[in-house]
Amino acid sequence: MDARIVLLPGDGIGPEVIAEGRKTLEAIAGRFGHQFVFESHPIGGCAIDEFGTALPNSTVAACRTAQGILLGAVGGPKWDDPTAKTRPEAGLLGIRKALGLFANLRPIQVLPQLVAASPLKAEIVSGTDILFFRELTGGLYFGKSAREKDASGEVAYNTMIYSTHEVERIVRLAAQAARGRKKKVTSVDKANVLEVSRLWRQVVERVMKEEFPDVAYEHVLVDAMAMYLISKPTKFDVVVTENMFGDILTDEGSMLPGSLGLLPSASLGDPGPGLYEPIHGSAPDIAGKGIANPLATILAAAMLLRHSLNLETEAAAIEAAVNKVLSDGHRTADLMGTSAPKSTTEMGDLVVAALRAA
Ligand code: NAD
Repeated sequence: MDARIVLLPGDGIGPEVIAEGRKTLEAIAGRFGHQFVFESHPIGGCAIDEFGTALPNSTVAACRTAQGILLGAVGGPKWDDPTAKTRPEAGLLGIRKALGLFANLRPIQVLPQLVAASPLKAEIVSGTDILFFRELTGGLYFGKSAREKDASGEVAYNTMIYSTHEVERIVRLAAQAARGRKKKVTSVDKANVLEVSRLWRQVVERVMKEEFPDVAYEHVLVDAMAMYLISKPTKFDVVVTENMFGDILTDEGSMLPGSLGLLPSASLGDPGPGLYEPIHGSAPDIAGKGIANPLATILAAAMLLRHSLNLETEAAAIEAAVNKVLSDGHRTADLMGTSAPKSTTEMGDLVVAALRAA
């Protein structure tokens, strides 16, 4: 396969972890006979410094025609001034919007080798393997909002809005993914209170019954889900929910494996390329020290192969290589427990070596 992959390294540890993601994709190309062409473009703080905008037009244009996009992270204290005209995060929101990325996927897996890193008891988290689908372009964050004067001072409001179409498309993606897993979808809403959740639930019922009779589904209220996620995380397979509930639940879920450095995510639109990134930020406290954990980015590269290039065997090969490296006892400083943590590049090299040896 020939594929053009755009790299958006960004700020802080972004460039360090993206270098390892690229190395891993190059190793995959070599092993499986693919041709991947890489192009790097600026986004975030480094783009503000160079172009005065967090998202140059040239970056958007390159992303639009790519087969897949691998992003590091944006932001840092240098660009934190609240009065600044533009901020690095504008690059992230801008590219999601420009590409119509409406579905955010976050796999949350607790690997057997790392159960001890979880803040929860081993008997609760062992075997956790959840794939979250968070709707990314609708709901409260994109509804009408305003501040108005009233007799008491001020009132402010935000509105949560979803259309049938917006619910259908994310539920379909989630149900399709469940078909390749344990065939179970949990839809999270607040239908006992919110009208918008009642529409959400009605659409989920119809889509699942009519189009996915082979996939089991259930509805769970968001407050209950917040409890189940830490009391019974192994109960779930694919979880689908709206934007704000997903924002909160995926951050809660990201704590299950114990380190941000392990978790990838994907944002998908239809049509167009997907955007793949680690869930962590630019980690300015460790930037430039060569100690960042590159595994989240390497696993994001595996998601790119699976979801944008349809290369399931290659994606699984990366995941197996990461598993092997961890099983062999190698750890970066964030996952410590051993006396000799690996550097960012050493960890990347170990994954590449495991890929070549397989
Ligand atoms: P962060 O994720 O950057 O860091 C939180 C903590 O986790 C830090 O102690 C950091 O050293 C550690 N950490 C993160 N990734 C790691 C890795 N790969 N290996 C080892 N340790 C790792 O979150 P923060 O400190 O709240 O934010 C820092 C900057 O990143 C801010 O400017 C924020 O706006 C930005 N941010 C960007 C994104 C993104 O680009 N998607 C996401 C979150 C935060």
